[in-house]
Amino acid sequence: MSAILESYAAGRWFRAADDGEPLLDAATGEEVARVSSRGLDVAAMVRHARDVGGPALRSLTFHERAALLKALAKHLSERKEELYALSVRTGATSRDTMIDVDGGIGTLFSYASKGVRELPNDTVVLDGGLERLGKGGTFVGQHLYTSRPGVAVQINAFNFPVWGMLEKLAPAFLAGLPSIVKPASQTAYLTELAVRRIIESGILPEGALQLVAGGAGGLLDELTVQDSVAFTGSAHTAGILRRHPNVLDGGVLLGVEADSLNCSILGPDVRPDDPEFHLFVKGVVTEMTVKAGQKCTAIRRVLVPEAMAGQVAEALAARLAEVTVGDPRDADVRMGPLASLGQRDEVRKAVEALKASAEVIFGDPEGASSLDGDPERGAFMTPLVLRARPGATEPHDVEPFGPVSTVLTYDGVEEAVALAARGRGSLVASVVTHDPQVARSVVLGLAPWHGRVLVLDRDDAKESTGHGSPLPVLVHGGPGRAGGGEELGGVRGVLHHMQRTAVQASPDQLTAITGRWTTGAARAESGVHPFRKSLAELRVGDTIGSAPRTVSLADIEHFAEFTGDTFYAHTDAAAAARNPLFGGIVAHGYLVVSLAAGLFVDPAPGPVLANFGVDGLRFLTPVKAGDAIDVTLTVKQITPRAGADYGEVRWDAVVANQDGQVVATYDVLTLVAKTWPATPAQEA
Ligand code: NDP
Repeated sequence: MSAILESYAAGRWFRAADDGEPLLDAATGEEVARVSSRGLDVAAMVRHARDVGGPALRSLTFHERAALLKALAKHLSERKEELYALSVRTGATSRDTMIDVDGGIGTLFSYASKGVRELPNDTVVLDGGLERLGKGGTFVGQHLYTSRPGVAVQINAFNFPVWGMLEKLAPAFLAGLPSIVKPASQTAYLTELAVRRIIESGILPEGALQLVAGGAGGLLDELTVQDSVAFTGSAHTAGILRRHPNVLDGGVLLGVEADSLNCSILGPDVRPDDPEFHLFVKGVVTEMTVKAGQKCTAIRRVLVPEAMAGQVAEALAARLAEVTVGDPRDADVRMGPLASLGQRDEVRKAVEALKASAEVIFGDPEGASSLDGDPERGAFMTPLVLRARPGATEPHDVEPFGPVSTVLTYDGVEEAVALAARGRGSLVASVVTHDPQVARSVVLGLAPWHGRVLVLDRDDAKESTGHGSPLPVLVHGGPGRAGGGEELGGVRGVLHHMQRTAVQASPDQLTAITGRWTTGAARAESGVHPFRKSLAELRVGDTIGSAPRTVSLADIEHFAEFTGDTFYAHTDAAAAARNPLFGGIVAHGYLVVSLAAGLFVDPAPGPVLANFGVDGLRFLTPVKAGDAIDVTLTVKQITPRAGADYGEVRWDAVVANQDGQVVATYDVLTLVAKTWPATPAQEA
């Protein structure tokens, strides 16, 4: 008997007392491991996450959490071979394994990078701008996100034991939430190995990640408001979870990613000798055969114009005939078995249901011919293409979770969109067309029904990541039948786990709460120019107010001539007088910004190393010859960069004229040394 998988619970590895259920190799039927969660104290796990993991995570800033994700990604990258070797036992070919293992690690890297680049080095995220709520500017509103003091439970499907865990873990971790991961039992041995390597590394704070190997037991019974469940799997299980009292009445947030009858549409403009025709056929074949079609994003419905159906069917058959099915240990095998014999039975049942309104035109549902594989012990299945009869309903209802697609025909773009919508909400759709009008009509028609839409043609094909690949930077999830959940999407996926709150306060209070200077809050003029202060010395609110400078006509003419920007409003008095907004010569906006820089900089070498940009620049009042402008520069936000001798300082810049009218507002972005004078390392 093989070893029983262990759960990682409340700081230690737990082994169930019973023998557990056997988990079989998808290709050979040999026992890989056994699984049971009997006796697992799930209540203690939830307490551990709340009392140990959560506080440890929330004490770190987003940048510190991102650094841990990056270290984890590197750690797992160095141990990929071990994960690859075990992945074969799930039925995965090396291409499938890349998607699962490398895709999962890539998601960690992506979140690590997003966390540093797009989130502050803080524990609070501001959402949107400041809302002025009173005329005097003493009462303002700001939306902000904070971490929930809860637990993120992640229940995953069998098809991506590594990616499924990491794509849910990374955003939750960045959001400051400890995770309890519950992989599908069928392939839990691979998730367990990955979790074991993560825990051994000591990279994550204790309590940030726990594992349930085996059934979920009463895990949901332990959850309360502030906790969340992210589920991927069948609509049936999703229904059970949706009806759980703690979800219905207890405030537990549930995100669902369930069945999805994704489609790919061949544009009505495409002819058999167009590159798009081949791209379409290739896309369908790829989605049918990668992971043996056991992908929530696989193409189940192939929508083609009536006149093209025969040629599409022929081309699919020709390509699918070349796909070798068998034990993924054989290098010649292109498609491995399904995850289990039970899963194959499910797919065969789904095909039977589809046959009520469709004919099998390629493959044999009962056929299991395979290279180097025993069809009695391994869950082999050949790819199957069906062609729907007119008025077919089953292809829009039944999800065969295997290498099965159904060809349906449409007449006109409107019908294509209407057929796609009969899936009642899907994760992804693709349209293959080189006609921009078709692309616009189809995409705008599909968008409300889908979480992601791919437009494929000869121009983007080479770089396209394909129909079926969820990407960490794009949202994954779909409306309606697809579950209504949303995951990934870069920082969006992090914010899903956080609470958005509208805070109303005075500007000073808001500055104290957010750590970011707020318009209207006190400014501090210490007599030392803030450009002379290192990052360690600078404080939010430090300010320099400049002396005024009069802008002359000669300045405007000089700037026009020098830069070549001789736009008439700066050079032609008669024409400028007719301009309804200016009524005469005005200074260039960029002259104003340049003069402002001349007014606020302190020129001698100092801790300010570089200006790396300007955000939110708005010109609000025109500057005419003779106007005198001044600038007020205030430290808005200080963000030390981990692993660097400098950090980012965001300055609030307000340029005003002699009447106190605001001429321009913007944020100046600079890099400032952490210490000054420079350390020997900086000088080197
Ligand atoms: P399931 O819905 O059966 O299982 C998914 C996860 O939920 C597993 O971790 C499972 O654990 C767990 N689970 C099952 N029952 C409960 C419960 N009462 N409380 C808490 N957790 C529970 O899906 P499978 O992964 O087994 O796949 C079955 C079908 O789901 C596929 O044939 C396919 O149709 C569909 N599917 C759809 C996906 C999609 O995203 N569209 C992805 C994967 C599957 P355990 O394994 O221990 O039972």
